[in-house]
Amino acid sequence: MKDRMTANFSSELIMQHPLVAGAAGLSAAAALAMWYSVLYSGSEIVAPVIKTIHPHKAVALTFDDGPTPGFTDRVLDILRQHDSHASFFLIGSHVKQHPELVVRMLAEGHTIGNHTWDHHHHGVWHGEAYWRDQLQRTSSALADITGRKPALFRAPMGFKTPPQARAVRQCAMRYIAWRVRAWDTLKISPHTICRIVTSQIRPGDIVTLHDGLEPVRRNCSQESTVQALPEILKILKSRGLASMSLEQALEFPVYQ
Ligand SMILES: [Zn+2]
Repeated sequence: MKDRMTANFSSELIMQHPLVAGAAGLSAAAALAMWYSVLYSGSEIVAPVIKTIHPHKAVALTFDDGPTPGFTDRVLDILRQHDSHASFFLIGSHVKQHPELVVRMLAEGHTIGNHTWDHHHHGVWHGEAYWRDQLQRTSSALADITGRKPALFRAPMGFKTPPQARAVRQCAMRYIAWRVRAWDTLKISPHTICRIVTSQIRPGDIVTLHDGLEPVRRNCSQESTVQALPEILKILKSRGLASMSLEQALEFPVYQ
């Protein structure tokens, strides 16, 4: 009993020592900084990211996880009806299945970017070779179909890691993040999506929406996004904001 008390007392004393307490605080801060750099899409600790565009009278709507028939084609119809352009971050395995939608995106003036081959949620635990393969397979599939190799990459869920950033650099690509996120992969109404986007959006913002279903969400729907889009575009227009593609908005080439 006395021994246990002495041991507890000693360990408390050790923890209270300024050097030990300082080291514990530092490692907690380092762990926090590491997770912030991985999980926060706008963090630039791991690599520089683009979250905004320069034009003051425009915004850049971006759509992730497609192409997915039933949603992507309707998003393209709506963009055409509103004379608007956007950018699509595509999943390579979907590109392979629906090349006609990718061809249509480019024919109608939209920008295409790389969003990995299979959007695997465990990707953050993988090394440089895994990420190089994910990027190169997707870019090759896009180049085979369109003759264009994207220079823009959007990380799945916006999560970045140092091995991923090295692969992105080696593949001569840049990260595109966002300032406004629609949260439209959650089960929310078109009205809520519209409110989330239009209550936050400012000139120059990059906005993330979804026209597709990543492989683990195969039985879900992006119907709410499709239904929200006409109202979002109408409100943007009423504020004098055009929706531009990233090729129109950025000051560097979006293809290699
Ligand atoms: Zn995604």
